[in-house]
Amino acid sequence: MAAADDGRKAIFFGRFISAPGPESLLIRQGAVLVSSSNGHGVIEKTDWTLTTPAAAFEAFGVEEQDVDFHQTMNNGFFFPGFIDTHIHASQYPNVGIFEASLGGKEPLADTNGAYEGDRGTETVNHSTSNPLSKADAVYTKVIRRTLSYGTTTASYFATISVPATNLLADLAFKFGQRAYIGRVCMDHPDTCPTYYRDETPDQSLANAIASIEHIQKLDSKGELLAPIVTPRFAPSCQTETLSLLGQLATDRKLRVQTHISENIGELALVKHLFPQYKSYTDVYHQTGLLTSRTILAHGIHLDDRELETIRTQGSKISHCPASNSALGSGFCPVRKLLDNGIDVSLGTDVSGGYSVSILDSVRQACLVSRQLGYVNGGDKKWNIGVTEGLWLATVGGAKCVGMEGRLGGFEPGMLFDVQEIDLSGENSPVDIFGWEKWDERIDKWVWNGDDRNVKNVWVGGRMVHSGK
Ligand SMILES: [Zn+2]
Repeated sequence: MAAADDGRKAIFFGRFISAPGPESLLIRQGAVLVSSSNGHGVIEKTDWTLTTPAAAFEAFGVEEQDVDFHQTMNNGFFFPGFIDTHIHASQYPNVGIFEASLGGKEPLADTNGAYEGDRGTETVNHSTSNPLSKADAVYTKVIRRTLSYGTTTASYFATISVPATNLLADLAFKFGQRAYIGRVCMDHPDTCPTYYRDETPDQSLANAIASIEHIQKLDSKGELLAPIVTPRFAPSCQTETLSLLGQLATDRKLRVQTHISENIGELALVKHLFPQYKSYTDVYHQTGLLTSRTILAHGIHLDDRELETIRTQGSKISHCPASNSALGSGFCPVRKLLDNGIDVSLGTDVSGGYSVSILDSVRQACLVSRQLGYVNGGDKKWNIGVTEGLWLATVGGAKCVGMEGRLGGFEPGMLFDVQEIDLSGENSPVDIFGWEKWDERIDKWVWNGDDRNVKNVWVGGRMVHSGK
């Protein structure tokens, strides 16, 4: 559409911080010129020598009245937007509730007996009274809430309902969040309840396609909004369905998302249901679902051969530490995944995870890595630090959603998906005394910050959230 390039340009001035690598923050001051403010804006120019707004207007050759202008405050900075590579939009009303069994000392999900997917209580799909109005309320809330926490890109699981999934896509597009939307495919009669499954593999495929085509009609370029093929996880699908979806993803060059190797009970179930395959990973590999556009959530208990297959296929892992702790699933060996050349990102796994905040996922990834070091004889090599966590949340996320080099930083040509953080606002949960170095302020932000520090959020240059 021609309108895509009609937006006003914008200048962002002040402090820019990013985590281009796992070990060091990039902290710069200067100005960035964004090509458009209407959702397709990319960084046209940067200048890290400028010290005044007037110098920025002059350097970029624009008149003040012709551009939008944003400047960070003293304890403020621009940071790349967070990328949540695994979130169940339909489970958002359950955050903090988990399963009905919650309340005692039991694990937060039953991993014995009939497997429940990842706690698959889809709150927007069962309703007998006007399910779409419920979906509208829940999906509006989850998009606005994640944006308010600085999540500029999210890879969503919806439900098996085509209309409700399409509604999620409509809303993400309307609110301007960069989103990958997946209609959940599940049809295995042994593991899915009769009221909540596709009737046949062909129907599962047809429903997937119906939703894909709706999403592609909304955004034909697929840059802001794109479909993602979403078999819930191997045990919830018949083998034929997995193969049909694998073929679909290959034929149409689509992203894929699913779960893998989350907990011990699930591994036994996969072995039982798919005896003909060498491993859990092999089920996805042989059915064509393991591609370089595939995001696998969890990946906690993978063996070395599986890691090798995932690396060779170029598939990605979404690490969901809060969910793994809440459900007692185990410790994801992030260091081992990275050392094996596998791209890793962070996911909230709402509502297995209790929070929509990727900042909280960074925190939890740091904590879980230390527990993993403890169970491995105190080896500090497992540790994930704040900078590495932020790198996973931004650059790692970009790699996992196929947007490497386009999201996660402030280099010319990158999309302007950015959150403006203010550490010293009236309601800030972070106390800055003024003597802290900037890397220390970032540490404080990660450990104590939350949505109250998120001042503004832009996706493709379009302001999609303002906290003040
Ligand atoms: Zn999940």
